Amino acid sequence: MDTKTCLARNHKDIMETPYIIVLASRNKGKTAEIRERLKHYPVELRNLDDFGPIPEVVEDGMTFDENAYKKASFTARVLGFPAIADDSGLVVDALSGSPGIYSARYAGEGATDELNTQKLLREMDGKSNRKAAFECVISVAVPTGAALTYEGRCEGEIAQTPSGKGGFGYDPVFFFPDLGKTFAELSMDEKSCVSHRGKALNDLTGEFDKVLVWIEQNMPRFVKSDCVI
Ligand code: IMP
Repeated sequence: MDTKTCLARNHKDIMETPYIIVLASRNKGKTAEIRERLKHYPVELRNLDDFGPIPEVVEDGMTFDENAYKKASFTARVLGFPAIADDSGLVVDALSGSPGIYSARYAGEGATDELNTQKLLREMDGKSNRKAAFECVISVAVPTGAALTYEGRCEGEIAQTPSGKGGFGYDPVFFFPDLGKTFAELSMDEKSCVSHRGKALNDLTGEFDKVLVWIEQNMPRFVKSDCVI
């Protein structure tokens, strides 16, 4: 068999093997969204609720990238399956990039979305530059620590007052000029088309056949060798 045929056969085999991949999250909405996007691939997507108790990852990275990688590589190492993790947040120009990696706990550990949003509006009081962006990094890791990274960014402005009932987090104060609405005024589908997470997910799932080949090549395995030294 020549190399070309061999590669083609491997690719076909890979596409026909069901893969267990773990989403390093307990969020049912995120799991359902990624499962839906991967439905045409031979993937069985599980999340952390499908396993017994596992230690919590310490998210002490200084960037979204570091935190996404920590979650994905830790989960892959502990569970022995390829893992996907994301990390995202809001970066605001006039606040030198804050709340950034602290988006979920801007108003303090365990703060609600409403308290975080109120703090943001207080900090933005009197600021004329209201430019902001949501950023998202998705990491796909295997137990050896090798990883792929996907990024998405969505630019907008911080509104003067909250508006809209949909979404979560800072959505009611994130004004998206292209559609003339805050993220909380968009339907889930509209948001998913333009959001930071939607863009990163599009890039990832749009080339998931290549990701599966990469996983196949990077998963550690015991190989019986015929080599005689
Ligand atoms: P996570 O990394 O997806 O858990 O997001 C961390 C925090 O960033 C959330 O708790 C929100 O405060 C904020 N955030 C991330 N994505 C969004 C979004 O799409 N809308 C509003 N807030 C978001």
